[in-house]
Amino acid sequence: MFGVILGAGCGGGVAINGHVHAGPNELGGEWGHNPLPWARPEELPGPECYCGKRGCLEKWISGTGVAWDHRQVTGRELTTREIMAANESGDPDAVSTVDRFEDRLARGLAHVINMMDPDVLVFGGGLSKVERLYLDMPKRLPQYAFGGEIATPILPAKYGDSSGVRGAAWLWPNK
Ligand SMILES: [Zn+2]
Repeated sequence: MFGVILGAGCGGGVAINGHVHAGPNELGGEWGHNPLPWARPEELPGPECYCGKRGCLEKWISGTGVAWDHRQVTGRELTTREIMAANESGDPDAVSTVDRFEDRLARGLAHVINMMDPDVLVFGGGLSKVERLYLDMPKRLPQYAFGGEIATPILPAKYGDSSGVRGAAWLWPNK
């Protein structure tokens, strides 16, 4: 499975047969610092990332990325929470911002599916609470993933948007 953390940043994790796949560099699932795929002219070269590169996925498909993108396009400074609330009430600018977020998320996840075709995608982090993702992403993924038909289930994390923190706590021994 591929776990997607859409929070202040954008992270990920790979589990195979119930075990975390870290890899020799402990980079397994670290997709947030891959570049945004199929970047459009207006998305290039992309915002600078703290990792030293430009246009990292994390700069687009995270809470901070969504707020930045909304400000770039509308000139209005809103928090991600305010943008998501405005989206729910049908504000056209906020709906467009979430449309762009979903399209970029689909592009990022199409790469994941093409490479490892996980049995399931699990969304965590604050943006995993955006309900329309679970309706829209199954329609958006086939636009980018190879083959045109994608059956990958997309589920919210079982223990809510802070499941990543919960998982990290499990790494400490229970004394
Ligand atoms: Zn980066």
